[in-house]
Amino acid sequence: MSSPDGGGSGASRVEIYDTTLRDGSQQVGLDLTVEDKLRVAAALDALGVDVVEGGWPGSNPKDKEFFARAAEIPWRNAQLAAFGATRRPNRSADGDPDLETLLVANTPIVTLVGKAWTLHVDEALRTSRGENLAMIGDSAGFFVREGRRVVYDAEHFFDGYAADRGYALDCLAAATVAGADTLALCDTNGGTLPDDIVRVVRDVLGAFPSVRVGVHCHNDSACAVANSLVAVGAGATHVQGAANGYGERCGNADLFAVIAGLELKREYELLPPGRLAALASTAREIAELANLPFDAKQPYVGSSAFATKAGLHASAIARRPDAYSHVDPSKVGNRSHVLVSELAGRSNVLVKAAELGLDLSSDPELATAVLEEIKDAEHRGYAFEAADASFELLVRRVTGRGAGKSWPSWFDLEGYRVVIEKSNGTDRSEAIVRLLLGDQRVVAVGEGVGPVHALDQALRKALSELYPQLATIHLVDYKVRILDGRAATSAVTRVMLTSADHDGEWTTVGVSDDIVTASWEALADGISYGLLRAGAEALVPAGAVP
Ligand SMILES: [Zn+2]
Repeated sequence: MSSPDGGGSGASRVEIYDTTLRDGSQQVGLDLTVEDKLRVAAALDALGVDVVEGGWPGSNPKDKEFFARAAEIPWRNAQLAAFGATRRPNRSADGDPDLETLLVANTPIVTLVGKAWTLHVDEALRTSRGENLAMIGDSAGFFVREGRRVVYDAEHFFDGYAADRGYALDCLAAATVAGADTLALCDTNGGTLPDDIVRVVRDVLGAFPSVRVGVHCHNDSACAVANSLVAVGAGATHVQGAANGYGERCGNADLFAVIAGLELKREYELLPPGRLAALASTAREIAELANLPFDAKQPYVGSSAFATKAGLHASAIARRPDAYSHVDPSKVGNRSHVLVSELAGRSNVLVKAAELGLDLSSDPELATAVLEEIKDAEHRGYAFEAADASFELLVRRVTGRGAGKSWPSWFDLEGYRVVIEKSNGTDRSEAIVRLLLGDQRVVAVGEGVGPVHALDQALRKALSELYPQLATIHLVDYKVRILDGRAATSAVTRVMLTSADHDGEWTTVGVSDDIVTASWEALADGISYGLLRAGAEALVPAGAVP
């Protein structure tokens, strides 16, 4: 990959082809409405991918409706592709109802999937090998005559090549002779390893020097991104993949990792200038639209992708962040984190506070006070490593404590009562929360399936009028751990709670002998931190000078 030509045009520029809405949505648990699909497409378009494959209009009415509505939208960067299979065996392409549906989708690009593996022609299609070639050629020709750009998705290409190289290449030839301008070599079963990808891509490029050759890799051998990168290194100029690596079984190639790898490490320009910095937020946005948990460990874009458990290295990390991460996280719109842990001590806490914009280094007394507070809390069972938000609130409260203040605070708890009921096999809890909001006293009742849910409901109700920002904050995860299982009755409970808004998520921690108290702490911190993020003004404690 030594001669990138990202900015140019023609087959030498690497084309990014997104299949989140078609292949990606085969993932278990991923079910997008038409509205969701349009929003995902808009996010990908805004990011700047070249092609968005909107779906398979012949396979379901939802995809048909998507194309009808997508046609009304002025896309900024992306061209739309509709996906479908080659014509049926022993029929004409003209009048084939599935090809007709594809045509009606009215996209500039039509992607045709067709067999390239003799085993599938013989056993799945159960037609002659010659007929399969005719199906590919006829179908491609049909759309080329209609003025469409045709991408041939050569299904199971790498397995087909291994079984019968001559026939696999004949399939590609049938498509190109009919006018297909792109050959996408699919590793449909995802079992191919990088060295084989390189060898086969080179061979195909040699045989078809005047068409665009690309790859479509699945991740069953954990090589989908690697395979896509080495394919480009071998000369491929078209890469198919899905947002966040979504897809059936182990997923498709994670398009975001492919883009970041090629732009940051091989100097290709795949996205419009400046758009790479939108990678992390786009990845998160699509995860939210897909209603799937966002993987903290996802390369480049995950919240832990640049998180370092610092230990003794905290000050070194602060001095030379580039020595501890493979790329500058800001280039993909992410940021680095130093994780706080008991072992790390003073320098770690200073670095962590600085990362949050709180400079403690100029005030050694304050730094000591913060450190003591953290040590004390950790001794009681708090863990701040994964609970950045509680850590930040703790530091802010310690630093804002002067002159009798305990700040910032968005509400003060006067008390709560929770009733837990089990009746006819149904769990139901009711919580009454009494809060002080400045000089105002608010009482609210909430109901839920468990005590924590009921407390959350009551707290939100009590705060909703003063803080409309709460509407965008929601709970995404709740974990309970018993810290000392030996002393069964006096065991300490630690609750970790993750909340999210449109821009990201944060984790808070609560610790107590009592699970409801621990949950309340984590919940109250989670809401407080959400309000801090949303820019809600904190209350000035009664009697304090603002
Ligand atoms: Zn696929």
